[in-house]
This record gives sequence, C-alpha cells and structure tokens, in this order.
Amino acid sequence: MTYLISQKKYKNKKVFWMTALLFLFGLLGAAFWFVMGNSNGNLNEENKGVLETTTPVKTQSRAKPYLTITPKMVRQGDPALITAEGATTTRDVKSFTFDDRPLFIFLHEGQVSALLGVELRAVPDTYPIILTFNDGRQIKENLVIVERQIVRKPFDIPDKLGGNTNESEKELVSTLALEGKIINALPVVWKKLWTEKFGSPLKGPLVVTDDYGYTRLIGKSTTMPHKGTDLKADMGTPVYAMNRGVVKFASSLRNYGSTVIIDHGAGLQTVYMHLSKINVTLEQKVEKGDIIALSGDSGYTLNPHLHLTVRIWDISIDAMKFLEILGEN
Ligand SMILES: [Zn+2]
Repeated sequence: MTYLISQKKYKNKKVFWMTALLFLFGLLGAAFWFVMGNSNGNLNEENKGVLETTTPVKTQSRAKPYLTITPKMVRQGDPALITAEGATTTRDVKSFTFDDRPLFIFLHEGQVSALLGVELRAVPDTYPIILTFNDGRQIKENLVIVERQIVRKPFDIPDKLGGNTNESEKELVSTLALEGKIINALPVVWKKLWTEKFGSPLKGPLVVTDDYGYTRLIGKSTTMPHKGTDLKADMGTPVYAMNRGVVKFASSLRNYGSTVIIDHGAGLQTVYMHLSKINVTLEQKVEKGDIIALSGDSGYTLNPHLHLTVRIWDISIDAMKFLEILGEN
C-alpha cells in the first residue's frame, strides 16, 4: 500500500504525527464524499418507479438513462428520433412505447433509439413515451405534437392524365388509392441496414419546389395532401440512394410514375418518384450514393422534378426535417 506511512522515514515524532493527522483528515473527507454520493444513489433507487422530466435540465446534471427527443419541436408530419441516453443495449429493454403503441428499437450511435413518424393528421397534444427495462425501471418523456400550418393550393390534372375533367378527377382518386395500397403492402426489412448518416438524393444544394404537407385542391371536390417533397431536378438528373438498403419497388405506376422504393430497415423507406429511367432491380442491395435512377416527369406531374418521400413504417413524413435529424451535416 502506497498510503502506509513508515515511521522510519521520519527523524522526529512531531513531523510524523502532523503527517498522520493530515492523512486522517484526508480519509474523513473521502468517507464523507462516499456517503453523500451513496445517499443520492439511494434516492434514485427509492424513486425508481417513473423518472419524469418535463423541463429542460442541463445534460451534465441528469442521471442516465434518460430520454431525448429530436427535433425539439415536433410538428404534424415530422419524424422524431427518440434516444435513451445511457442505455447501450436493446437486450435490457422490455418495451418502448409512444402513446401505448410499441416503437421499434435499434442502436443509433451506440444508444437505444426509436424512430417515430408523426402522421400529418395526428391530433396536436401531449403524448407519453415510456421505456421499460427488464428489471422494471422506467424512464419517461412527453412528446408534444404541434400543429403544422397547412397551405391550400389548386393543382391541375395534366392533359396526359385526362386534364381537368370530372372523369379524370374520379380516375385519379381511385388509381391513387390503389397505388397507395401497393406501396403499403410491400414487405419490410426489420433489421436496420444503415450505419452512416443519410445523404442527399441529388448532387448540389436541394431546391424545394413544392413543400411537404400542403393540400392540393384538385378538380371540383378533391383535396389531397402532398406527402412528399418536390425537389428541383431537370429531366435526366442522376438520383442517388440516400443510404444503404434493399430495393423493394422498381416499377411504373400511373400517377407516381416510374418509382423506386428503398427499404433501409427499422421501418425506414425512401421513395423516389416521377423518374425517367430506373437503374436498379427488385431486391437489389444498394449503397449510399449509388445512382439508382434518372429524374423525370412520369406520372402525375406538371413538370420534371424529383418527388422524394421518406416513410417511417406506413407514415410519410417531412423528408427535409428527416434530413435535418438523420442527414449529413
Ligand atoms: Zn410531389
């Protein structure tokens, strides 16, 4: 033991006893610190039912594990990344729920996480998120869904789909419903395939020509939410896979046009529509940055562009907000 003081080292007793006293004070201090630290631990143990935090607390002072939600403000149609800071293995987790509905858990940057897609028509309110560990401990956080401002704009039916007539309006509604069903019925990849952040589907800065979420007024009586983001892309612009995944759809649809859907696992899909050329085949594995297609104006479009949809399970969310939380830089 290096702390043992040998009497032989000290030539006079005075120096020895002073050193011994100092050593004793040091020991007392360490014991006091240890007891206080322990009593804090006991406090957490006693309160181990639900640890709830609704007010922001400095990260350093929070006892792990605790839940964080990104982005800070979650609107209708937004994605939310929920992370259990300090929980590093999914094996310890019994359940992870949003409003009593189970969330799919995975490790993101070494922490137990889940992705939530908030429906565009979700009721703005406060919803509980609860993570229960196998040993019974729970951590809880409230997710507040804020209303998204919805703009309404008229949208024509192009001549190639019959123009603005009652018949083409009816056909549009019925065929779009069918196409939605086809996409919802695609088999899913459960395992999270991506490890890197999500990249851009186009080279250079993205220019949004039509926002996610606004309501298109079509014909006499049809209203249709735009559940994707339209990006400026001239005819024949290369379109890149936003991350590693498997092609689960590579075909042409009446309204969505030539479409590629990549499943990235863990409920995440990226959807590229109105393409002019598809470079991939069904079940093909793709890496981030692979050129999967060329953009175009196939299907229900008024001009060439890339329509990008990001889906979390069956919910189409705001792709630009998604890139803010899981994209590069
Ligand atoms: Zn679009």
